[in-house]
Amino acid sequence: MTNNHTDSYTALLRGAYRFRETEYDGDRSLMARLSQGQDPDALVIACSDSRVDPALLFGARPGDIFVVRVVANLVPPRRPGDATAYAVMAAVEYGVKALGVSHVVVCGHSHCGGIKAAMDVARGQEPPPFECLGPWVALADGACRDVLAEDPETKRTDVETATAAEQWSVLKSIGNLRSYSWIRERVERGELALHGWWFDIDTGELWVANSETGVFRVSD
Ligand SMILES: [Zn+2]
Repeated sequence: MTNNHTDSYTALLRGAYRFRETEYDGDRSLMARLSQGQDPDALVIACSDSRVDPALLFGARPGDIFVVRVVANLVPPRRPGDATAYAVMAAVEYGVKALGVSHVVVCGHSHCGGIKAAMDVARGQEPPPFECLGPWVALADGACRDVLAEDPETKRTDVETATAAEQWSVLKSIGNLRSYSWIRERVERGELALHGWWFDIDTGELWVANSETGVFRVSD
């Protein structure tokens, strides 16, 4: 290991110590309550990207949000017997059925490497040379191809094309969530709301999809 790696590892351990000193000891009543159980009201599906930690971005405290983080914040479509979906959906199922969350947010972001990898393949380049990553980001292939098919008309820049794919992929993931009857039924009964968000790393702005039109706008 290089010194740099050792330093980053040590920094994590120091961070754990600092958390205990300031946050944990500083708010013992919160942590004492949380030691009895959790009752978050929102579930966030976010990317693994180190720049988009949902707890930091959304100012969440311990116990506030139930989080699933996977590359490119993708929700696979429901295919009974296909375990691909379980890593994401096991957490969603627990959040929805056991914890009874009222909101599920799929949060994409700008400069998403996972969506870029899927976009490269959709443009005819070789899949990424990784055993697991290639098949996973292929889940975004349909969203990327949809966006590319629109491009001759929209005359988007490369950045705008990437943004469109990141946002359309979020909406596709929300569609995939709806393919589970236990989610769809709760949404129809008004017990659960599904939200599409997209975080812009360049500006710090959060974009929110209109639930009717799917158009993303900067949130006020
Ligand atoms: Zn990402």
